[in-house]
Amino acid sequence: MVTSQDLPRGIHTNVKAGCPSCGKGIAPYGNYPWRVGGDWKLKCPNCGAIFPKNDFRAFYESALDEHGFFRRELGDQSLLFNTEHPDPKDPLHKIYVDDGYGMMDEKGNKHLFIGYYNDFIQWKRIVSALLSLSRTYTLTSDARYAHKCGVLLDRIADVYPAMDFAPFHTLGFAHSHGGRGTGRVTGRPLLARYSCLDARDQILRLLYVVVGAVAEGLQIAEGSM
Ligand SMILES: [Zn+2]
Repeated sequence: MVTSQDLPRGIHTNVKAGCPSCGKGIAPYGNYPWRVGGDWKLKCPNCGAIFPKNDFRAFYESALDEHGFFRRELGDQSLLFNTEHPDPKDPLHKIYVDDGYGMMDEKGNKHLFIGYYNDFIQWKRIVSALLSLSRTYTLTSDARYAHKCGVLLDRIADVYPAMDFAPFHTLGFAHSHGGRGTGRVTGRPLLARYSCLDARDQILRLLYVVVGAVAEGLQIAEGSM
């Protein structure tokens, strides 16, 4: 799925506090230490703790508007609870719960887990899929790969015009942008990471793929007449 503007992106969860479970124990694992710990969940490489503790996908899907864009205000608030502590009377019922804009730990620290996942995992997968599909089509001439690539590119084109990192810079989400908050999906210097969206040769190559798929589709249609 291609996430839209209102779902934050960020490259840190909380550098000062570290891991909500082992604190600075995560520090030796580098600047970007978190690993995939499940669907919209991150795992600490040091202690193995997994955050957030809510089912974010369920909340995400409840918050989609008529265009399939995430709108936090539309989300079902009853889904925002710690699934390991489902009893509303449990003091941890609302702790470690991230609605996309960060979660609180037991000490009152805010951690930006979903923003990190959206940036490092989700968008990385989107771009990897684009590049893999276009390369595979180039190597195999199998139109199925070009079609999937075109569908994905079309969906990115739906969300990309509204992409703006600045609001998240204001909210404290970190990125590499020289302190100016500039950028779209990511901070401006890291846009190169998404070269398929900006680099001219990649755009041309992807257009070639899409045009090739359309041409092949027409040939198939003509052949069936
Ligand atoms: Zn940890």
